[in-house]
Amino acid sequence: MRLILLGPPGAGKGTQAKMLAEKFSIPQISTGDILRKAVNLDSELGRQAKAYMGDGQLVPDEIAIELIREKIKEEDCAQGFILDGFPRTIVQAEKLGETLKEMKLEIDAVIDFEVDPHELIVRLTGRRSCSNCGAMFHDETRPPATAGVCDHCGHELYQRPDDNKETILKRLEVYDSETMPLKEFYRKRGNLKTLEGRGTVDEIFSQVCALVS
Ligand code: ADP
Ligand code: ZN
Repeated sequence: MRLILLGPPGAGKGTQAKMLAEKFSIPQISTGDILRKAVNLDSELGRQAKAYMGDGQLVPDEIAIELIREKIKEEDCAQGFILDGFPRTIVQAEKLGETLKEMKLEIDAVIDFEVDPHELIVRLTGRRSCSNCGAMFHDETRPPATAGVCDHCGHELYQRPDDNKETILKRLEVYDSETMPLKEFYRKRGNLKTLEGRGTVDEIFSQVCALVS
């Protein structure tokens, strides 16, 4: 199964992608996670990406596309994958389409997460992630048992540097102008499935599963 999760920052794509990856035993490919790792390692890629990410801008299409082209050719993607945070522009979507065509593969579904923008801001400003296992918490809606510590593995929680009000607003703006047009792009191709992003994480997961089965 090959899925694309489409939606604004804070819509819950990452959370659902992890759950889907587990259920279907296929990898979650998050360009955001890959880029953050590169920034932490201070690799060449990380150095290129850092300034864009800190400003809430997209990294250049060529960088994102190259990452994905390499990734989906890897062995662990043979049975499928879940793209989380890619494509984010029409150019990225077109290049992905070309790459898949070369590989004689197709996307099964594009799941579109719709969430009210005010809700997104609340979610992102309070978001905390585990530095070790990636589990997500929220200051108000999903606090860990001990402040600043992951419930699952005991490691320290951190706030993403781009989860501050100013950068969040920029990311939402970039989403509207660059990524939103992808809905029409995939609707025309007949594989867009829209989800009501409401309810608990488990309720949304059931909805997602119903859409792809
Ligand atoms: P979110 O969806 O919560 O904003 P991500 O973790 O998906 O966060 O992405 C974080 C940042 O990484 C983005 O703001 C952007 O700078 C960069 N990024 C991630 N994926 C892409 C992509 N496909 N194209 C360009 N930039 C990307
Ligand atoms: Zn953890």
